Amino acid sequence: MVRSDTVELTERQRRVREAVGDVCAEFDAAYWREHDADEAYPHEFVNALAEEGWLGVLLPEEYGGKGYGTEEAVAMMYEIARSGAGFSGAQTVHAAVYNSAPLVAYGDEELKSDLLPRVASGDAWIQCFSLTEPKAGSESTAITTRAVREGDEYVIDGEKLWTSRIDVSDYLVLAARTTPREEAERKTDGVSLFLVDIDRGREAGWIELEEIDKTASGVVSSFRVTYDGLRVPADRLIGVEDEGFYQVLDGLNEERLVIAAETVGLGELAVETGADYANEREVFDRPIGQNQAIQHPLSASHARLQAAKQYTFAAAGRTGDGDRKAVGAWANTAKYLAAEAAFEAADAAVQAHGGRGVDREYDVERYLREARLTRLVPVTQELALNYLGENVLDLPRSY
Ligand SMILES: Cc1cc2nc3c(=O)[nH]c(=O)nc-3n(C[C@H](O)[C@H](O)[C@H](O)COP(=O)(O)OP(=O)(O)OC[C@H]3O[C@@H](n4cnc5c(N)ncnc54)[C@H](O)[C@@H]3O)c2cc1C
Repeated sequence: MVRSDTVELTERQRRVREAVGDVCAEFDAAYWREHDADEAYPHEFVNALAEEGWLGVLLPEEYGGKGYGTEEAVAMMYEIARSGAGFSGAQTVHAAVYNSAPLVAYGDEELKSDLLPRVASGDAWIQCFSLTEPKAGSESTAITTRAVREGDEYVIDGEKLWTSRIDVSDYLVLAARTTPREEAERKTDGVSLFLVDIDRGREAGWIELEEIDKTASGVVSSFRVTYDGLRVPADRLIGVEDEGFYQVLDGLNEERLVIAAETVGLGELAVETGADYANEREVFDRPIGQNQAIQHPLSASHARLQAAKQYTFAAAGRTGDGDRKAVGAWANTAKYLAAEAAFEAADAAVQAHGGRGVDREYDVERYLREARLTRLVPVTQELALNYLGENVLDLPRSY
């Protein structure tokens, strides 16, 4: 088979891919299929990565992390998705890798030196970020969850939607308003981030969970969460009060490139599965892959995925030398291209499978559900295009 991939990995990316690939090889297609169907979190997989220190891939070495950056994270998360875990498999560890970012950048030293080494060793999980609310998704500044300072604590009340992995995490990063939007100078002001001890909150009855019955990403559970008088020690405020939104934005684009890499990994997996089946399955005495109606959608998907992959990996190698808006343009372009390409790839793979396209045993229906999800999260395709329209094409802001 000809290798048409034009991405040249750096030496370090190669080593990351290899080492992560070795861990992933222990978890076959059946593992992911069963965990998706049972809606079970893949503890063994996450523990295996944690044992090798991969949850600390981005943490500085002084805290026991690997001290790598976006370039290596892209290689790592692409490899996980491509191995058979898909986008959702990558998402089971994605948050563990990214949620400590605001802590590293803005947390105070005492908290960092206590917590981050435990995150790096896999003993403490910060797998959960609670931002979205019933009336604040794309419009994240519309959050109304309120944090009020009372002595040495903040008291937090509000309702969140789609808080994922709170059931398997030790800590969560919670975004709440310390200043209501109508009182803030800019709508992006007045939000603060808190590190919340989940067990403590649940035991005290301050955190109530209700699982959302969703159709994609069985290996990750998402919840409607009510915070009712949640008390958080004041020293668990991350960074500066009222500036949490900017702390979230910092690093968001790099994270979005990693999402794009996960999505490309899923798309390639779908094309490969589709092509394998198209070679094996014979109808009218010939392999179905001989029919252009089956062959071309797979080939076109392959081509689109390679373009998205090249763009994503090239951008990941340049995040250090672009201004923030340029990195934003790269990240949104990569995320958009990857999600469209992966969706078309998964759809082509399902079509190639005929009726078996919806049989769980053949995996492609799962890839399609996941690929559909990548057009919605962590940001919708429309919002990614809004960014490009406004910042690259100088068009008027639509919201
Ligand atoms: C499986 C899953 C897991 C998630 N996990 C988390 C998590 O762990 N933590 C968390 O905080 N959130 C999480 N989310 C939430 C996710 O980030 C939001 O669903 C997403 O940002 C979209 O917000 P929304 O669902 O409220 O859609 P809305 O904001 O209501 O948008 C609805 C539709 O309108 C479109 N639209 C809105 N405004 C515009 C505009 N100006 N121009 C064009 N189109 C527009 C959108 O693109 C979308 O298609 C998760 C979501 C899912 C589905």
